[in-house]
Amino acid sequence: MKVLIVGYEAAPFYKRGGLGDVMESLPKALNSIGIEARVVIPYYHDIEKKYELKKEGEFSIRFRFEEELVRVYSSPLPQTKIPFYFLDNSRYRFISNKRGKDKINQFASFDLAVANFIPWVSEHHRWMPSIIHCNDWHTALIPLILERKMKSSIPTLLTIHNLLYQGVGSPRVLDMLDMKDEETVEIKRGKPATKINILGEGIIHAARVSTVSVSYAKEIANDYDRSPIGPFLKRREDGYCKKDGKIIGILNGIDYDIWDPAKDDLIFHKYDLDNWEVGKRDNKDDLLKSLGLETRPTFCFVGRLASQKGLDILIKVINRSESLNINMIILGSGNSIIQENVLKLARKHSSWVRAEPVYSEELAHRLYAGSDFIIIPSRYEPCGLIQMIAMKYGTLPIASDTGGLRDSILNGKNGFLFKKGKSMRLKKMIEHALNRMKDKEKFKKMVEYAMKTDFSWDKSAILYKKLYEEMVK
Ligand code: ADP
Repeated sequence: MKVLIVGYEAAPFYKRGGLGDVMESLPKALNSIGIEARVVIPYYHDIEKKYELKKEGEFSIRFRFEEELVRVYSSPLPQTKIPFYFLDNSRYRFISNKRGKDKINQFASFDLAVANFIPWVSEHHRWMPSIIHCNDWHTALIPLILERKMKSSIPTLLTIHNLLYQGVGSPRVLDMLDMKDEETVEIKRGKPATKINILGEGIIHAARVSTVSVSYAKEIANDYDRSPIGPFLKRREDGYCKKDGKIIGILNGIDYDIWDPAKDDLIFHKYDLDNWEVGKRDNKDDLLKSLGLETRPTFCFVGRLASQKGLDILIKVINRSESLNINMIILGSGNSIIQENVLKLARKHSSWVRAEPVYSEELAHRLYAGSDFIIIPSRYEPCGLIQMIAMKYGTLPIASDTGGLRDSILNGKNGFLFKKGKSMRLKKMIEHALNRMKDKEKFKKMVEYAMKTDFSWDKSAILYKKLYEEMVK
């Protein structure tokens, strides 16, 4: 079985969030159980600066009424032989790290390039995928392009990592893709179509749709009425597209070659289950020293500054937690208003709150190693990797009871769950966690349970394998 996995980011080459981790660790896990997975993402300049890429060749696509050259670069995933491909187009760059209306066109051209890359890689590298595994809206035009434009019969799987991001824009993008009316009947249904919803099109056209936890799959099925994506999910569920309408939930895993305090070169002191008490204490001492904080129970937040992540709830709670005698460290980049609010918070409580509004792998690793607790107040969380990583480092999560957080945290055993969106519940849970910390035996039991909880890809990779096998039957 050969699977081409497509997405807009893949660690370590280019990472902005959890999808980047998955695009690195899933192919490794699949290869270890006999599935030949390869990966294709856009070519970003940041990659060129850090990795030596091999130029493999080029082909052309017709986009925006012109012939455009797409260059193919490759590199094996470090420490493996798994080929990762990077597609570049100098006239119409595949960039995603900037905001702006052009994103829709950029990813439409990327999707067209990926569809044309399939015959290219088959011819030049003698490798023909049996499945195309698309991830999120950036790649969600691929099923449509393959099915309608290229008359391809290769089955496609679309995995939704976050239903909020849908890629909504002008349907003119279809003209740019040079797609004829009869190829786009569903899209133009209910004319005049004023907007295209790219994720929606993926949901309609992919052979199968999955998401990244069982609970989020259920939440999607129950809550979609309120979202613009609702009609697409409903049409699929009702059998409109004559495809299996069920959205399957498969929990993401993490890669313990990367996330392991015993091997982590970015943290101050390596440690494992046998010496975690000393290891975490030393990491915490150095972390707090580096940030100018006193020794106190230390809580952190790591994540994108987006409304999904519930920073407003956290800010409210911090403003009421002066008397708790704790440290709070926030690491995150993203929305500028949230960033400003977080910085304001840190200025207001300068003796115990720190805000680092940046993307820093190093600080993220140090926070996982040196904190006692990590707060994850997400309003919804399709899967979430942060809680899994934190647990491996013996840092207990205090998280909203939703989606993948609910599916990975056992309340009172390896972390704490509170009712999502409720700041008073979070405050109470922080107090409860502090009490648990004072009870040394119980706390030790929880930390060790968390460190031992297995979030490796082993189980989930087998579920993907089963799904792929079903798709090619
Ligand atoms: P999401 O995919 O919604 O961003 P996840 O919990 O699935 O959230 O994954 C987040 C990943 O991104 C983790 O690997 C986390 O360490 C990393 N991350 C998020 N924000 C930052 C940041 N500011 N600096 C470094 N790493 C970050």
